[in-house]
Amino acid sequence: MKQPNSGKLSLLSACRQVARRAFRLQSLRPEQESAMLAVLNLRDTLVALPSGFGKSLIYQVPAMILERPTIVISPLIALMADQELALKKRGVPVIAFHSRLRVAERRAVLARLKKGGRLVVLTTPETLESAATGPFFERARPALLCIDEAHCISEWGHDFRPSYLRLGEARKRLGNPPVLALTATATPGVREDIAGRLLLRDPRVLVAPPYRDNLRLTVDIVPGSGKFPAAARRIKRLQRPGIIYCATTTAVDEVGGALARARIPATRYHGKMRAADREAAQRQSMLPSRRSIMVATTAFGMGIDKPNIRYILHYQAPGSLEQYVQEIGRAGRDGHPAYCILLFDPADLEIHEHLQALNRPSVRHLERLESALNSWTDEQRAPTPDNLAYSAGVSARICEVLLSDLEEAGLTARDEEGGVSIVVSPEKFKAGVHELVAKLKTFRYEGERRLRLIADYARSNECRSVFIRRYFGEDHPPRCGTCDRCRVDRVGTTQPSTSQRRHARPQRRPIENPAGQPSPQFPMPSDTNSRSGHQPAAETTPRRPPPPRASRPQGHKARPRRRSPKSRRPS
Ligand SMILES: [Zn+2]
Repeated sequence: MKQPNSGKLSLLSACRQVARRAFRLQSLRPEQESAMLAVLNLRDTLVALPSGFGKSLIYQVPAMILERPTIVISPLIALMADQELALKKRGVPVIAFHSRLRVAERRAVLARLKKGGRLVVLTTPETLESAATGPFFERARPALLCIDEAHCISEWGHDFRPSYLRLGEARKRLGNPPVLALTATATPGVREDIAGRLLLRDPRVLVAPPYRDNLRLTVDIVPGSGKFPAAARRIKRLQRPGIIYCATTTAVDEVGGALARARIPATRYHGKMRAADREAAQRQSMLPSRRSIMVATTAFGMGIDKPNIRYILHYQAPGSLEQYVQEIGRAGRDGHPAYCILLFDPADLEIHEHLQALNRPSVRHLERLESALNSWTDEQRAPTPDNLAYSAGVSARICEVLLSDLEEAGLTARDEEGGVSIVVSPEKFKAGVHELVAKLKTFRYEGERRLRLIADYARSNECRSVFIRRYFGEDHPPRCGTCDRCRVDRVGTTQPSTSQRRHARPQRRPIENPAGQPSPQFPMPSDTNSRSGHQPAAETTPRRPPPPRASRPQGHKARPRRRSPKSRRPS
C-alpha cells in the first residue's frame, strides 16, 4: 500500500480516484472519507451509519488501495453472494469462502487466497475459527479485517450471533490487522460492547443520525382485532413496492394470503420456508422493476439493496427500537419520501417476550449446563459443545453463548478438537457461574426495558425522530416536521377534498381479512394525514383540526397545536 505518511491528501485523492473509476461515484460522503482515511492510516474504526449510506464502500475502496487482502466478515451467505457479484461486476478482485462451496470451489478459493495481493475476501466468523480453514486466512496476513453488521457481536444488539463473539481472538491470530466495524444502528452501549469485544485500540468512531429525513414516521395504536382493517386501509393508499413486517410466521401467512385473495402482488418470506424458496422470494422481490409487497418476518432484510421501497409497515411491533430503525432504514434509499408505519398493539410485546425467552440464555439454561459440565468431568474425554447441549437439554445456540461466557470468564477452555473442560477448581467454577447468573439477570432486565421502549415510542407525544435520535445518543435532535406528531401541528393546510381523491383512484377489489370479512371501505385519505385512517369524518372538514385520535390510549391528552418552524428541521 501507499505509505501512511505519504500524506492525508494523497490517500484521500487515491480513495476518490478509486471511487470514480471502479464505483463511478463523483463524490464520497465526508463520513465515508473520514472512515477510509482512518482505515488506511491503520487505525481501528467503528462506523455506525444508517442503512443506505454506502457503508460497504468504506472497506471496498481501501481494499483497492491496500496491497494485501481485506477480510470481510458477513453474517449471511446470501448477503455474501450478492456482494461478491456486485464487486465482480466492478472488476474488484473478490472471493467468497463459506460452507456452501463445493470441494473444487473451496480449493480454488483457498488457492487464490494463498496468492494474496489486492483482494476482498468475504467469509463467515466460523471460517476463521475452523482448524481446517483458519490457518489459510492467518497465513494471508490480511491488511484489514472488516466486520460487517457488527452489532451482531454485542449481546445488547438486537441481532446477536454467538459465532461473532470470538472475533477478537481471531483478530490476534490474523496478526492484529486494523479492524473496521460497520453497523447501521448502535446505541452508545452497543458501540462500547463492539469496541471491547473486538479489542479495538483507541478507535475512530463515526456515527450519523440513525434515520434519514425522507422517512415519514407514523404510529397507529390498534388493538389486535383492528390490525387487519387498519393495515388494509394503509396498503390501499400507499404506493408500492413496500414491505410488511410481522413478528410471527402465522401473521405472515395470514396477511400474505389476504393480499393474494385481493389480487395484490405480494411475496412471503419467513424462517420456516425452505432456504431455496426464501432466496428465490428475496431475489424476485429485489428486482428493480418489481412493484410488489413483501410480507416477511424480521428474517428478511439484511443486505436489502432496493432503492425505491416506498413504505415499511409493521403489522406487529418489532422487538426493540434498534430493530425498528434497522428495518425502516430499508425504505426510501433513493431519497424520495417513504412511509414507515407502526401498527402498535401492547399485546404484540407478549409475542416478543415469548421469543426472547426461547432465544436468550436464562439462569435455568446455565444451571443445566453447569451440571452437564460437572457430570462430564468423570468421563475419559472432553465433551464437544454439541455433546454438552444434548446433555444439558438446551439448544446448540444457547449452549454456544453460555460456553463463550464461561470461556471469557476463564472457567472453561477448549482443546484442539473443540472439547470443552473446566480449568479451575470446583469452588472457583461454582463462584464464577454464580457471577454469570447475575449477568444473565441483567440481560433479562435489559430485554424487558427495550421492549418497554417500543411501547414508549408508540405512545409518546413527542416528534418520532426526536425520540429515536435521543435514544441513539444525540442530545438535542431537531424535530423532523414530517412524522405524525409533527403533522398534528400543521394539519389542515393542503388536503384535497374527498371527492377529488375519489376521482383520482381506481376501484379495487376489497382486501378481505383472514376471517373472510371485507375490510371497511373508508375513503382514501391523503398519505400526509395519518390520523384520518381512524377518523374519516375529519376528511370532509379538512380545514378544521380533526377530533382527538380514536386510537390514542385513554389518559393521553391531545397536544395543543403548535407550528413547527422549518428552520428546526434537519437538513
Ligand atoms: Zn417529527
